[in-house]
Amino acid sequence: MCDSRSSLADAAPTALAEDRPFPDDLDTKGRSGITTLPSGEPEEWQGSHPRREFKARGSQVVRCEACRLPQLNCLCPYRVKAESRIRFWLITHPLEHYKPTNTGRLIGDVLEGTDVFSWYRVEPDPRLLALLEDDRYQPFIIFPDDQPDYADRVVDINAIAGVGEGVPTHTSAGEPRIPVFIMLDGTWRQARRIFRRSPYLDGLPVLPLHSQRLTRYHLRKAASEAHLCTAEVAAELLRQAGEEAAASVLDDYFDAFNDCYRASRIHYVLEPTAPMLRLLARREASDSSE
Ligand SMILES: [Zn+2]
Repeated sequence: MCDSRSSLADAAPTALAEDRPFPDDLDTKGRSGITTLPSGEPEEWQGSHPRREFKARGSQVVRCEACRLPQLNCLCPYRVKAESRIRFWLITHPLEHYKPTNTGRLIGDVLEGTDVFSWYRVEPDPRLLALLEDDRYQPFIIFPDDQPDYADRVVDINAIAGVGEGVPTHTSAGEPRIPVFIMLDGTWRQARRIFRRSPYLDGLPVLPLHSQRLTRYHLRKAASEAHLCTAEVAAELLRQAGEEAAASVLDDYFDAFNDCYRASRIHYVLEPTAPMLRLLARREASDSSE
């Protein structure tokens, strides 16, 4: 999910991206994820390797059962928690759940209290419906503000503090409500579908992300570099909401995910990058304080 111009997970809706052969990634060569590789290595892969060879390798990849990344560069050592007053509820398209390249799940790894719901058009999750009725939460649906028919529901990030918009920040008993960002986790088309075909979301304020950041996601081909993936959108929203520490951890974890995955696709064992080293240090600090 994304800023006003852009998409969710930005991929072709039908592609199971983890088996995509590496040559599709070559247009991103030189961007952050690949710079940790020894110089010269990308050239070796840039030639005319037959696609079927890569596909064969992709289908035989051995995955970590916990993080679902290729075991060669497992993400598990970098999994750390961060604190935030903001909760995330993800409404995930069923086709997205099983993709190891899905980034929505990274949010739940980092932030306690993240909830994930599967979206089914005819049968909304009763647990989600109950949460939407729960006065303790102040839910916003994260969605671009590029269509006129719901313009009256659009708010900006200050609405979580009750500035300028009619979103109650306290319960009827006077308790502060917990801001919740509802993210529609799927490709752009899937997210639009969820947004348009879920009447129980119709009354919610719509919070678009406006950001100049470009995507760092390498695992699926983006239609545009302005299309941020789900985890990147979440990190940007946290940052704009003043939750810089949580935003940085999620950004680092996303970078680690991206780099681990990408290196495994070219069968390269990655040395810890700067974001990975920060996550390891954080994990060590939290382990020793327990
Ligand atoms: Zn793992």
